[in-house]
Amino acid sequence: MLKIAIIVPCYNEQEVLPNTVSKLSELTDKLAAEARISHDSFILFVDDGSRDDTWELIGRYAGEYDHVQGLKLAGNVGHQNALLAGLMTVKNEVDAAISIDADLQDDISVIPEMIDKCERGCDIVYGVRSARKTDTFFKRFTAEGFYKLMKLMGAKSVYNHADFRLMSARALEGLSQFKERNLFLRGIVPTIGYKSDCVYYERKERTAGESKYPLKKMLTFAFDGITSFSIKPMSFIMGAGVFLIICAIAFAIYAFHSYVTGNVVSGWTSIVLSLWFIGGLVLFSIGVVGQYVGKIYIEVKERPRYIIEERVDGK
Ligand code: UDP
Ligand code: MG
Repeated sequence: MLKIAIIVPCYNEQEVLPNTVSKLSELTDKLAAEARISHDSFILFVDDGSRDDTWELIGRYAGEYDHVQGLKLAGNVGHQNALLAGLMTVKNEVDAAISIDADLQDDISVIPEMIDKCERGCDIVYGVRSARKTDTFFKRFTAEGFYKLMKLMGAKSVYNHADFRLMSARALEGLSQFKERNLFLRGIVPTIGYKSDCVYYERKERTAGESKYPLKKMLTFAFDGITSFSIKPMSFIMGAGVFLIICAIAFAIYAFHSYVTGNVVSGWTSIVLSLWFIGGLVLFSIGVVGQYVGKIYIEVKERPRYIIEERVDGK
Protein backbone atom coordinates (compact mmCIF):
# COMPACT_ATOMS: atom_id res chain seq x y z
CA MET A 1 0.00 0.00 0.00
CA LEU A 2 1.44 3.30 -1.06
CA LYS A 3 1.63 6.46 0.96
CA ILE A 4 0.54 9.24 -1.36
CA ALA A 5 0.66 13.02 -1.18
CA ILE A 6 -1.46 15.16 -3.46
CA ILE A 7 0.20 18.50 -4.07
CA VAL A 8 -2.00 21.45 -4.95
CA PRO A 9 -0.42 24.83 -5.71
CA CYS A 10 -2.86 27.66 -4.95
CA TYR A 11 -2.64 31.30 -5.91
CA ASN A 12 -5.68 33.40 -5.01
CA GLU A 13 -7.92 30.37 -5.16
CA GLN A 14 -10.45 31.16 -2.44
CA GLU A 15 -13.35 30.64 -4.85
CA VAL A 16 -12.41 27.11 -5.83
CA LEU A 17 -10.85 25.85 -2.60
CA PRO A 18 -14.03 24.74 -0.77
CA ASN A 19 -15.01 22.50 -3.67
CA THR A 20 -11.43 21.29 -4.28
CA VAL A 21 -10.88 20.37 -0.64
CA SER A 22 -14.10 18.44 -0.36
CA LYS A 23 -13.59 16.55 -3.64
CA LEU A 24 -9.98 15.64 -2.93
CA SER A 25 -10.54 14.63 0.65
CA GLU A 26 -13.54 12.56 -0.36
CA LEU A 27 -11.26 10.76 -2.81
CA THR A 28 -8.45 10.20 -0.30
CA ASP A 29 -10.94 8.98 2.32
CA LYS A 30 -12.39 6.55 -0.17
CA LEU A 31 -9.00 5.26 -1.35
CA ALA A 32 -7.78 4.87 2.23
CA ALA A 33 -10.99 3.06 3.23
CA GLU A 34 -10.54 0.67 0.30
CA ALA A 35 -6.94 0.12 1.42
CA ARG A 36 -5.65 1.40 -1.93
CA ILE A 37 -3.47 4.00 -0.21
CA SER A 38 -2.20 4.15 3.35
CA HIS A 39 -4.13 6.06 6.01
CA ASP A 40 -1.39 8.60 6.53
CA SER A 41 -1.58 9.75 2.90
CA PHE A 42 -2.37 13.45 2.68
CA ILE A 43 -3.23 16.43 0.51
CA LEU A 44 -0.78 19.33 0.70
CA PHE A 45 -2.08 22.74 -0.33
CA VAL A 46 0.78 25.08 -1.19
CA ASP A 47 -0.19 28.72 -0.83
CA ASP A 48 1.88 30.64 -3.36
CA GLY A 49 1.78 34.02 -1.61
CA SER A 50 -1.94 34.56 -2.25
CA ARG A 51 -3.38 37.97 -1.53
CA ASP A 52 -6.88 36.73 -0.79
CA ASP A 53 -8.09 34.38 1.96
CA THR A 54 -6.54 31.24 0.48
CA TRP A 55 -4.19 30.64 3.39
CA GLU A 56 -6.86 31.27 6.05
CA LEU A 57 -9.08 28.74 4.28
CA ILE A 58 -6.26 26.18 4.06
CA GLY A 59 -5.61 26.64 7.79
CA ARG A 60 -9.26 26.08 8.60
CA TYR A 61 -9.55 22.99 6.37
CA ALA A 62 -6.36 21.51 7.86
CA GLY A 63 -8.15 21.58 11.20
CA GLU A 64 -11.42 20.18 9.86
CA TYR A 65 -10.26 17.44 7.52
CA ASP A 66 -8.07 14.49 8.43
CA HIS A 67 -5.86 14.38 5.39
CA VAL A 68 -5.45 18.08 4.67
CA GLN A 69 -2.17 19.89 5.24
CA GLY A 70 -0.94 23.34 4.23
CA LEU A 71 2.35 24.91 3.25
CA LYS A 72 2.68 28.66 3.00
CA LEU A 73 5.34 30.21 0.82
CA ALA A 74 6.68 33.59 1.89
CA GLY A 75 5.76 35.24 -1.38
CA ASN A 76 4.43 34.58 -4.87
CA VAL A 77 6.99 32.52 -6.75
CA GLY A 78 4.82 31.24 -9.60
CA HIS A 79 3.09 27.96 -10.34
CA GLN A 80 6.19 25.91 -11.20
CA ASN A 81 8.19 26.96 -8.17
CA ALA A 82 5.22 26.53 -5.85
CA LEU A 83 4.70 23.05 -7.19
CA LEU A 84 8.36 22.19 -6.76
CA ALA A 85 8.24 23.50 -3.19
CA GLY A 86 5.42 21.09 -2.42
CA LEU A 87 7.09 18.14 -4.16
CA MET A 88 10.43 18.69 -2.46
CA THR A 89 8.74 19.06 0.93
CA VAL A 90 7.12 15.63 0.71
CA LYS A 91 9.90 13.87 -1.20
CA ASN A 92 11.19 11.90 1.79
CA GLU A 93 7.84 11.41 3.45
CA VAL A 94 5.83 9.54 0.83
CA ASP A 95 6.04 6.75 -1.75
CA ALA A 96 4.59 8.93 -4.49
CA ALA A 97 3.29 12.45 -5.02
CA ILE A 98 0.52 13.54 -7.37
CA SER A 99 0.43 17.14 -8.51
CA ILE A 100 -2.78 18.79 -9.61
CA ASP A 101 -4.05 22.35 -10.14
CA ALA A 102 -6.32 23.86 -7.53
CA ASP A 103 -9.16 24.41 -10.00
CA LEU A 104 -9.57 20.65 -10.58
CA GLN A 105 -9.81 21.13 -14.34
CA ASP A 106 -7.96 17.87 -14.45
CA ASP A 107 -10.09 14.84 -13.76
CA ILE A 108 -9.39 13.43 -10.31
CA SER A 109 -11.20 10.21 -11.17
CA VAL A 110 -8.06 8.97 -12.98
CA ILE A 111 -6.00 9.24 -9.78
CA PRO A 112 -6.74 5.61 -8.75
CA GLU A 113 -5.49 4.52 -12.20
CA MET A 114 -2.32 6.54 -11.67
CA ILE A 115 -1.77 4.82 -8.34
CA ASP A 116 -2.37 1.41 -9.96
CA LYS A 117 0.24 2.11 -12.61
CA CYS A 118 2.65 3.27 -9.96
CA GLU A 119 2.13 0.08 -7.99
CA ARG A 120 2.81 -1.90 -11.13
CA GLY A 121 6.21 -0.31 -11.47
CA CYS A 122 5.82 3.05 -13.19
CA ASP A 123 7.77 5.85 -11.60
CA ILE A 124 6.11 8.64 -13.53
CA VAL A 125 2.49 8.64 -14.67
CA TYR A 126 1.42 11.56 -16.87
CA GLY A 127 -2.14 12.81 -16.98
CA VAL A 128 -2.84 13.51 -20.65
CA ARG A 129 -5.85 15.40 -22.02
CA SER A 130 -7.60 13.25 -24.55
CA ALA A 131 -9.87 16.08 -25.67
CA ARG A 132 -10.07 19.79 -25.21
CA LYS A 133 -13.74 20.28 -25.91
CA THR A 134 -14.26 22.66 -23.03
CA ASP A 135 -11.30 24.92 -23.77
CA THR A 136 -12.00 27.97 -25.87
CA PHE A 137 -10.79 27.77 -29.46
CA PHE A 138 -8.12 30.30 -28.63
CA LYS A 139 -6.77 28.40 -25.62
CA ARG A 140 -6.76 25.14 -27.53
CA PHE A 141 -5.08 26.66 -30.54
CA THR A 142 -2.36 28.38 -28.51
CA ALA A 143 -1.81 25.41 -26.21
CA GLU A 144 -1.56 22.81 -28.97
CA GLY A 145 0.60 25.14 -31.04
CA PHE A 146 2.86 25.41 -28.04
CA TYR A 147 3.36 21.64 -27.72
CA LYS A 148 4.12 21.41 -31.43
CA LEU A 149 6.61 24.27 -31.23
CA MET A 150 8.29 22.64 -28.24
CA LYS A 151 8.73 19.47 -30.24
CA LEU A 152 10.07 21.37 -33.24
CA MET A 153 12.56 23.10 -30.99
CA GLY A 154 13.81 19.75 -29.75
CA ALA A 155 12.58 19.95 -26.17
CA LYS A 156 11.32 16.75 -24.63
CA SER A 157 7.73 17.09 -23.58
CA VAL A 158 4.61 14.98 -23.36
CA TYR A 159 1.91 16.13 -25.79
CA ASN A 160 -1.14 17.63 -24.08
CA HIS A 161 0.19 16.96 -20.62
CA ALA A 162 0.24 19.81 -18.13
CA ASP A 163 1.28 19.43 -14.53
CA PHE A 164 -1.12 16.66 -13.52
CA ARG A 165 1.15 13.72 -12.84
CA LEU A 166 2.29 11.14 -10.36
CA MET A 167 5.94 10.83 -9.43
CA SER A 168 7.45 8.14 -7.24
CA ALA A 169 9.82 8.97 -4.40
CA ARG A 170 12.86 8.07 -6.47
CA ALA A 171 11.65 10.15 -9.41
CA LEU A 172 11.28 13.05 -6.98
CA GLU A 173 14.81 12.37 -5.78
CA GLY A 174 15.92 12.58 -9.42
CA LEU A 175 14.02 15.82 -9.87
CA SER A 176 15.76 17.30 -6.84
CA GLN A 177 19.07 16.95 -8.67
CA PHE A 178 18.01 19.49 -11.28
CA LYS A 179 19.40 22.72 -9.93
CA GLU A 180 18.11 25.12 -12.57
CA ARG A 181 16.25 28.30 -11.73
CA ASN A 182 14.26 28.52 -14.98
CA LEU A 183 11.86 25.86 -13.95
CA PHE A 184 9.81 24.14 -16.60
CA LEU A 185 8.70 20.96 -14.92
CA ARG A 186 6.92 19.32 -17.82
CA GLY A 187 10.16 19.51 -19.76
CA ILE A 188 12.40 18.36 -16.93
CA VAL A 189 10.33 15.40 -15.77
CA PRO A 190 10.64 13.41 -19.04
CA THR A 191 14.42 13.88 -18.92
CA ILE A 192 14.63 12.16 -15.52
CA GLY A 193 14.04 8.76 -17.06
CA TYR A 194 12.51 5.67 -15.37
CA LYS A 195 9.49 3.79 -16.60
CA SER A 196 6.58 6.07 -17.33
CA ASP A 197 3.03 5.78 -18.58
CA CYS A 198 0.03 7.98 -19.33
CA VAL A 199 -3.56 8.08 -18.19
CA TYR A 200 -6.12 9.90 -20.32
CA TYR A 201 -8.91 12.22 -19.28
CA GLU A 202 -11.02 15.07 -20.55
CA ARG A 203 -10.15 18.48 -19.24
CA LYS A 204 -12.99 20.38 -17.64
CA GLU A 205 -13.78 24.03 -17.40
CA ARG A 206 -12.67 26.10 -14.46
CA THR A 207 -15.67 26.14 -12.14
CA ALA A 208 -14.89 29.34 -10.28
CA GLY A 209 -12.31 32.07 -10.09
CA GLU A 210 -10.31 32.98 -13.15
CA SER A 211 -7.30 31.60 -14.98
CA LYS A 212 -4.01 32.63 -13.47
CA TYR A 213 -2.44 32.19 -16.88
CA PRO A 214 -3.51 35.11 -19.05
CA LEU A 215 -2.03 35.34 -22.55
CA LYS A 216 1.00 37.33 -21.45
CA LYS A 217 1.96 34.79 -18.78
CA MET A 218 1.30 31.95 -21.22
CA LEU A 219 3.68 33.47 -23.78
CA THR A 220 6.38 34.03 -21.16
CA PHE A 221 5.89 30.45 -20.02
CA ALA A 222 6.19 29.13 -23.58
CA PHE A 223 9.31 31.18 -24.21
CA ASP A 224 10.77 29.96 -20.93
CA GLY A 225 10.01 26.40 -21.86
CA ILE A 226 11.77 26.65 -25.18
CA THR A 227 14.77 28.62 -24.01
CA SER A 228 15.32 26.35 -21.00
CA PHE A 229 15.48 23.25 -23.11
CA SER A 230 16.84 24.09 -26.43
CA ILE A 231 19.57 26.14 -27.98
CA LYS A 232 18.03 25.55 -31.38
CA PRO A 233 16.99 29.20 -31.83
CA MET A 234 20.72 30.01 -31.99
CA SER A 235 21.31 27.32 -34.56
CA PHE A 236 18.52 28.92 -36.59
CA ILE A 237 20.36 32.25 -36.53
CA MET A 238 23.51 30.52 -37.67
CA GLY A 239 21.54 28.75 -40.39
CA ALA A 240 20.09 32.07 -41.54
CA GLY A 241 23.64 33.43 -41.77
CA VAL A 242 24.77 30.52 -43.89
CA PHE A 243 21.69 30.96 -46.08
CA LEU A 244 22.47 34.65 -46.65
CA ILE A 245 26.08 33.90 -47.55
CA ILE A 246 24.90 31.33 -50.10
CA CYS A 247 22.51 33.99 -51.44
CA ALA A 248 25.45 36.38 -51.68
CA ILE A 249 27.39 33.87 -53.74
CA ALA A 250 24.42 33.29 -56.05
CA PHE A 251 24.01 37.00 -56.29
CA ALA A 252 27.68 37.44 -57.11
CA ILE A 253 27.23 35.22 -60.15
CA TYR A 254 24.16 37.15 -61.23
CA ALA A 255 25.86 40.52 -60.60
CA PHE A 256 28.94 39.43 -62.49
CA HIS A 257 26.74 38.40 -65.40
CA SER A 258 24.98 41.79 -65.32
CA TYR A 259 28.31 43.53 -65.11
CA VAL A 260 29.68 41.69 -68.12
CA THR A 261 26.57 42.32 -70.21
CA GLY A 262 26.89 45.91 -69.12
CA ASN A 263 23.34 46.76 -68.13
CA VAL A 264 24.07 48.04 -64.58
CA VAL A 265 24.31 51.37 -62.87
CA SER A 266 27.89 51.87 -61.73
CA GLY A 267 28.44 50.97 -58.06
CA TRP A 268 25.39 48.74 -57.90
CA THR A 269 27.26 45.45 -58.04
CA SER A 270 29.61 46.17 -55.16
CA ILE A 271 26.92 47.64 -52.90
CA VAL A 272 24.41 44.85 -53.37
CA LEU A 273 27.04 42.17 -53.00
CA SER A 274 28.54 43.54 -49.82
CA LEU A 275 25.05 44.03 -48.38
CA TRP A 276 24.22 40.34 -48.65
CA PHE A 277 27.65 39.12 -47.77
CA ILE A 278 28.14 41.28 -44.69
CA GLY A 279 24.58 40.58 -43.55
CA GLY A 280 25.22 36.86 -43.82
CA LEU A 281 28.56 37.11 -42.10
CA VAL A 282 27.13 39.10 -39.18
CA LEU A 283 24.29 36.64 -38.63
CA PHE A 284 26.64 33.70 -38.90
CA SER A 285 29.00 35.22 -36.34
CA ILE A 286 26.17 35.94 -33.93
CA GLY A 287 25.10 32.33 -34.36
CA VAL A 288 28.61 31.08 -33.54
CA VAL A 289 28.79 33.27 -30.44
CA GLY A 290 25.31 32.02 -29.62
CA GLN A 291 26.49 28.42 -29.75
CA TYR A 292 29.09 29.18 -27.10
CA VAL A 293 26.60 31.06 -24.96
CA GLY A 294 24.28 28.07 -25.36
CA LYS A 295 26.99 25.70 -24.14
CA ILE A 296 27.70 27.94 -21.15
CA TYR A 297 23.97 28.03 -20.46
CA ILE A 298 23.80 24.27 -20.40
CA GLU A 299 26.86 24.07 -18.16
CA VAL A 300 25.61 26.53 -15.56
CA LYS A 301 22.38 24.60 -15.20
CA GLU A 302 24.39 21.79 -13.63
CA ARG A 303 21.81 19.23 -14.56
CA PRO A 304 22.57 15.71 -13.44
CA ARG A 305 24.31 13.87 -16.24
CA TYR A 306 22.69 10.57 -15.31
CA ILE A 307 20.45 9.07 -12.69
CA ILE A 308 21.16 5.48 -11.70
CA GLU A 309 18.15 3.25 -11.54
CA GLU A 310 19.66 0.15 -9.95
CA ARG A 311 22.72 -2.01 -9.55
CA VAL A 312 22.79 -5.76 -9.41
CA ASP A 313 25.36 -7.92 -7.79
CA GLY A 314 25.09 -11.46 -9.11
CA LYS A 315 26.42 -13.32 -6.05
N1 UDP B 1 -0.70 29.16 -9.60
C1 UDP B 1 0.27 29.36 -8.60
N2 UDP B 1 1.02 30.51 -8.65
C2 UDP B 1 0.86 31.45 -9.63
C3 UDP B 1 -0.11 31.21 -10.66
C4 UDP B 1 -0.87 30.05 -10.60
O1 UDP B 1 0.45 28.55 -7.71
O2 UDP B 1 1.57 32.46 -9.61
C5 UDP B 1 -1.51 27.92 -9.55
C6 UDP B 1 -3.01 28.13 -9.56
O3 UDP B 1 -3.49 28.36 -8.27
C7 UDP B 1 -3.51 26.82 -10.13
C8 UDP B 1 -2.38 26.41 -11.08
O4 UDP B 1 -1.27 27.21 -10.73
O5 UDP B 1 -3.61 25.81 -9.13
C9 UDP B 1 -2.75 26.60 -12.54
O6 UDP B 1 -3.31 27.87 -12.78
P1 UDP B 1 -4.59 28.09 -13.67
O7 UDP B 1 -5.60 27.02 -13.40
O8 UDP B 1 -5.06 29.48 -13.46
O9 UDP B 1 -4.00 27.92 -15.14
P2 UDP B 1 -4.78 27.41 -16.46
O10 UDP B 1 -5.50 26.16 -16.09
O11 UDP B 1 -5.70 28.50 -16.85
O12 UDP B 1 -3.68 27.17 -17.46
MG1 MG C 1 -6.67 25.82 -14.60
